[in-house]
Amino acid sequence: MPPSFSMPVPSTIKHAAGALRAVLRTALDIALPQLCPSCRETVEGRGLCASCWSKLSFITRPYCERLGIPFVYDPGPGILSMEAIADPPSYNRARAAVRFDEISRALVHALKYGDRLDLAPMMGRWIAFAGRELLAEADALVPVPLHWRRLWARRFNQSAMLAATISAESGVPIAAGALKRVKATVQQVGLSRAERGDNIQGAFKVPDAGKPAVAGRRLVLVDDVLTSGATVEGCAKALLRAGAANVDVLVFARVADPGRTSI
Ligand SMILES: [Zn+2]
Repeated sequence: MPPSFSMPVPSTIKHAAGALRAVLRTALDIALPQLCPSCRETVEGRGLCASCWSKLSFITRPYCERLGIPFVYDPGPGILSMEAIADPPSYNRARAAVRFDEISRALVHALKYGDRLDLAPMMGRWIAFAGRELLAEADALVPVPLHWRRLWARRFNQSAMLAATISAESGVPIAAGALKRVKATVQQVGLSRAERGDNIQGAFKVPDAGKPAVAGRRLVLVDDVLTSGATVEGCAKALLRAGAANVDVLVFARVADPGRTSI
């Protein structure tokens, strides 16, 4: 007879049932083939299928040394993009593992909304590789924080998950609690560049307890996607105001042409 949970159950049985469920869930994870987050084909192991993998667009040099935006041709060493010259950000340098396109968007969404937390180590390793020069000079990682209400609803912060792998790969520690999201911003999707800036204005703050981890230190912000850059700009401003010596940015995917690409 299957156990009934409508009747009072002694706590030892409850614990045993919980443990059994955990074991079954692990067994199911092993038994069920994973789906490619992009095309939903079944895949051996984890991550993308071979076809989607081959279409993923990794960002390599030549790129703008400031913003990490890939160049179509090599303009020579040290040349910056028009964007970096016309509208320089508060942060020093940004690097991204891949271009934001259909495949990387599927990975980001699967991690963020689809509970595919198993993708975080793979994505984090790619970020660590793309940002190896920045990480070599960094004192600590700062994941872009979620507002507590969104964290509560989603149960995890995807940026913190990525930062955990980057920290393990690079040995750079995470400055936990260095930055807080004090304003619940609306989703950036569908907002213009100016609206994104207004939305993020005053959203981030270094709490008093976080100041020793920030002042005089070289920090690397970690986020999943960089689109207009308004979010990391808001974070960088707050960290620099609190005395950070340098702020760089590492993301999984970036919009390579912010003027024309939309989410
Ligand atoms: Zn696929």
